[in-house]
Amino acid sequence: MMQGRDAMRIDILTIFPEMFKGPLSESMLKRAQERGIIAIHLHNIRDFAEDKHKVTDDYPFGGGVGMLMKPEPIFKGVEHVKDELSALGFEEPYVILMCPQGRTFNQDLARELAARPALLFICGHYEGVDERVREHLVDDEISIGDYVLTGGELPAMVVIDAVARMIPGVLKEEESAVEDSFYNYLLDFPQYTRPRDFRGMKVPEVLLSGDHEKVRLWRRKEALRRTLLRRPDLLRKANLDSTDLRLLKEIEEENCVKPSDMI
Ligand code: SAM
Repeated sequence: MMQGRDAMRIDILTIFPEMFKGPLSESMLKRAQERGIIAIHLHNIRDFAEDKHKVTDDYPFGGGVGMLMKPEPIFKGVEHVKDELSALGFEEPYVILMCPQGRTFNQDLARELAARPALLFICGHYEGVDERVREHLVDDEISIGDYVLTGGELPAMVVIDAVARMIPGVLKEEESAVEDSFYNYLLDFPQYTRPRDFRGMKVPEVLLSGDHEKVRLWRRKEALRRTLLRRPDLLRKANLDSTDLRLLKEIEEENCVKPSDMI
């Protein structure tokens, strides 16, 4: 993870700012804002609409079902945020359109975005946004997966949460992201808490042994096993040493699979 830097600024353009209230005012994101590590600002796209009814959508040229988000309020919203940030001495924000057609979000992208000083999210709605927003206003388009949601608010929250966890100081020491799934291209190992015996289901003995080296090796092996069985594609990117390769050989025998075939 990166070390020491000023607060990250996150701006969000949305027609439903209220949707963000819960996620931003609880848990890790609340703590990160209180501690001045990230500063999140919500902007209602309606405030940038030019007509007196504050209309942000219109019919698509050429016909078809549904409405599209108009370009003017979104352009004006982005220009407003850029002016505000420039007056405050911030760098230009990286402008992201939440969009099912964008590049698929993952841990690498979360890390990449966490290194930027300022992010500006545009949340679409209806049938999406006027193409000129995509062509002339945004730096990036991000999808959270191959399915379509009603609006960009939930996707933006997903991205902001994952990005915030990558910023030094956001997670408490005991919540380190380093062992999380995907961080090192390995899925997380199985974890247990008390009681030792729950309805006859027992915690693996090695975890109770107090032998730190044995616990470390067991966890590494189980992370490798999980990844091999569930997401073998990740192993291609993982940094595996000779011990990992030996552990994978053992897993091959234990699970009757061939890592070399799957990787
Ligand atoms: N007609 C659009 C299409 O097929 O690409 C889908 C529009 S969707 C109903 C409305 C908005 O929700 C999008 O503009 C986008 O902001 C957001 N959205 C929906 N699914 C998303 C996803 N998987 N990732 C990111 N944003 C998404």
